[in-house]
Amino acid sequence: MEYAIKEVPSASLKQKNLENLKFGEMFTDRMFVMEYSPKNGWHNAKIEAFHNFSFSPATMVFHYGQEIFEGMKAFAYKDGKVAMFRPMENLIRLNSSAERLCMPKIDADFVFKALCELVKLERGWVPAKKETSLYIRPAMIGTDPIIKVRSSDNFLFYMILSPVGPYFSSGSKLSKIQVEDNYVRASKGGMGFAKTGGNYAASIKAGMEAAKKGYDQVLWLDAEERKFAEEVGSMNIFFVIKDTLVTPALNGTILPGVTRKSVIELAKHLKIKVEERKVAITEVIEGLQNGSVSEVFGTGTACVVSPVGTLGYKGSNFAVGNGEIGKYSSILYDYLTGIQYGQKDDLFSWMTVL
Ligand SMILES: *Cc1c(COP(=O)(O)O)cnc(C)c1O
Repeated sequence: MEYAIKEVPSASLKQKNLENLKFGEMFTDRMFVMEYSPKNGWHNAKIEAFHNFSFSPATMVFHYGQEIFEGMKAFAYKDGKVAMFRPMENLIRLNSSAERLCMPKIDADFVFKALCELVKLERGWVPAKKETSLYIRPAMIGTDPIIKVRSSDNFLFYMILSPVGPYFSSGSKLSKIQVEDNYVRASKGGMGFAKTGGNYAASIKAGMEAAKKGYDQVLWLDAEERKFAEEVGSMNIFFVIKDTLVTPALNGTILPGVTRKSVIELAKHLKIKVEERKVAITEVIEGLQNGSVSEVFGTGTACVVSPVGTLGYKGSNFAVGNGEIGKYSSILYDYLTGIQYGQKDDLFSWMTVL
């Protein structure tokens, strides 16, 4: 399969302003698009000008949410090169989400090649300042203009690019997280492991109620018993318990984060003990009180490693550590971002340098 590259006339290129970047509000000049039909499979692949789509109001994705997406990043190196962090992991995960939502798989090698080309064409949009990057958003939607409940036959896959600043721009770096013991995000047999819009739609209400009480995000518990920690909004969660990194084991309801996997691999390399297992929320709360839990942090593409300063549970707040960023959070953040920005050796061959 081939993709076409449609020229974007220089007169229609956008004005670039890469100062004071927010998250996900600005998009580059070009995008990748391809279509799927049962007869032709994936076809009509092209890199072309970023543009709006036009769809019937009956289009399936608008009604039944047959949608999946990914999120990864490209970074500017000091020497002018641009590099992507583990993009193949994301394309493979996209196919796992596709399988769950009865959507067609993409040819990951083909899409990888097209993505490299797209990012190369848009290298002028990769911001160079500290903590900035080019966020890459692949997405797939069901496009049949029919409101019967069934799987769509036709699909659209696209990738858009957005220069971004740090995910949490608000001054304090330590976040305040509410342990959610009423609403649930995903249950066994559901689609918690898939990166799909429906999981986010289901989580908005809890997030808004927590925000009203002054929390930044919620920590989800398991759907059956509301006993075990699962993950945070758009991040996986880690606890440092007596110098061991402990994170909930992947069980089908948790999103298998690429950052989570990378932190585990990195920690093992650094001879830090790691356990993937069930983590009872009472173990965490008691550990915060008796000092055996010294750090809590989230991991995700957008925030990398995000330290938690406070956990709210059943109406009480529990401080994590001493109000400063913990030892393991800083070591892992510095190491991982060092690799991502090309300042540390890429020991694990995680970077795709363009
Ligand atoms: C994307 C996402 C994560 C983090 O995954 P990364 O691959 O590390 O970015 C965690 N939880 C949810 C629900 C997500 O959608």
